[in-house]
Amino acid sequence: MFENLKPQPADKILALMQMFREDPREQKIDLGVGVYKNAEGVTPVMRAVKAAEKQLWEAETTKAYTGLAGDPAYGDAMINLILGSSVARDTIAAVATPGGTGAVRQAFELIKMANPGARVFVSDPTWPNHLSILKYVGIETVTYRYFDRETRGVNFDGMMEDLKGAQKGDVVLLHGCCHNPTGANLNLTQWQEVVDLLNAQGLIPMIDIAYQGFGDGLEEDAAGVRLVASSCPETLIAASCSKNFGIYRERTGLLMAVANDASGQALNQKTLAFLNRQNYSFPPDHGARLVTMILNDDALRADWAAELEEVRLGMLGLRQSLADELQRLTGSDRFGFIAQHRGMFSLLGTTPELVEKMRVDAGIYMVGDSRLNIAGLNAQTVPILAKAIVDAGV
Ligand code: PMP
Repeated sequence: MFENLKPQPADKILALMQMFREDPREQKIDLGVGVYKNAEGVTPVMRAVKAAEKQLWEAETTKAYTGLAGDPAYGDAMINLILGSSVARDTIAAVATPGGTGAVRQAFELIKMANPGARVFVSDPTWPNHLSILKYVGIETVTYRYFDRETRGVNFDGMMEDLKGAQKGDVVLLHGCCHNPTGANLNLTQWQEVVDLLNAQGLIPMIDIAYQGFGDGLEEDAAGVRLVASSCPETLIAASCSKNFGIYRERTGLLMAVANDASGQALNQKTLAFLNRQNYSFPPDHGARLVTMILNDDALRADWAAELEEVRLGMLGLRQSLADELQRLTGSDRFGFIAQHRGMFSLLGTTPELVEKMRVDAGIYMVGDSRLNIAGLNAQTVPILAKAIVDAGV
C-alpha cells in the first residue's frame, strides 16, 4: 500500500526556516514564518495567558471530554469578541476547532455538504493553505484580483469585476483584517460595496479572521466582518486565537455559521458538531479555556488587551521606520505602502529572483513571493533590511 504514496509538495515556509537555521552568517534576518516575535526575537507567552494558566492549574478538577462543539462559554466569548452585538446570538452556530486552520477546513467541508457545486473565490494571492485545503477537499477554486503590483494596495476595481463572475451560491473567501500575505486591506466603504455585490448576486461570504488586534485595534479589525455578518443572510467565519493570544501550539480556533434567522441555527449547530465528530471528535480545550478565562475576567482581559496593543503599536512603529529609512535611501515615496499596510505581513511585490538575491547577498530570509514578516525586524535590523532592498534593486 505505502508504495503507492507520492511525495506531497513541501511547505515552502518550513523549508525556508530550515535554510535559515543552517545559514552560519551572524547578520542573517528571519522574515519568513508567520509568528510574532518581539525585539529580542522571542515569541513570548502573553502575561494574561500565563496568569490564566496558573489559575487553571489550581482550579481545574477534571480533563474529561467537553462537548463536540467545545465549551459553549468559549463560543460565547469569541462570538462576543468578533461580532460584538452586530448579529443576534440565536442565529449563530459555533464550534471550537483545532486552530484557525481547523475552522477553515471545517468551513470548506460544510460548503461541500451544503452545496457540492459551489466554487470558492479566493484573493490573488491568498494564504497558500487556503488553496491546498480547497484542492484536498475537492472544491473548485477561482481567484479574484486583489493585490495591485503597482500601488501595492488593493486592486479594488479588478476585485469587483472578477467577483461579478461568481454565480448564485458560490462562496467568496475574504480576510477579515491584516490580509495574509499582502498586508493590503479593504476600507469600510469598500467592504460595503462588497456586501452589496454579495447580496445582489446571492453569494455566500466566508471570512477568515486570524489577526484581530494586529491591524488598527480589536474593534476596528472586526468592523468588516461585523458589517458582512449583519448585512448578508448567511456568513461563515473562521477565527484563530493563535496570533492575538500567542497560543499557536495550543490549536485554538472557532468556526461560526451565521444563519438568516434563528430557525436555521439549530441545524447548522448540529451539522458543525457532526463535522467535528467525524474529523476529531472533541476539539482541543486547553487554549480555548484560557481564552475564555481571559475574555470573561475584567483584569485578565484588560492586561491581555494592553499587551496586544503594545504588540500592534510595535509593529506599526517598525513599519514606519522601515518606510522612513527606504525614503531616506531612495529619496522617493515608493515604499510608503509599507507604512500603509496592516498586520504582520507586507508583500514587497518583487520577483522571486530578487528575493533570492537578498537571501544570498545579505542573509535576508523572506518568503519567495516577497512576503516579509514585519515582526521579524527590530530597531537594529530595519536599516540592514532597507539597505538590502535598495542594493538588490527592488
Ligand atoms: N488564516 C490565515 C489567513 C492565517 O494566516 C493563519 C495562520 N497562518 C490561519 C488562518 C490559521 O492559523 P492557525 O491554524 O495557526 O490558528
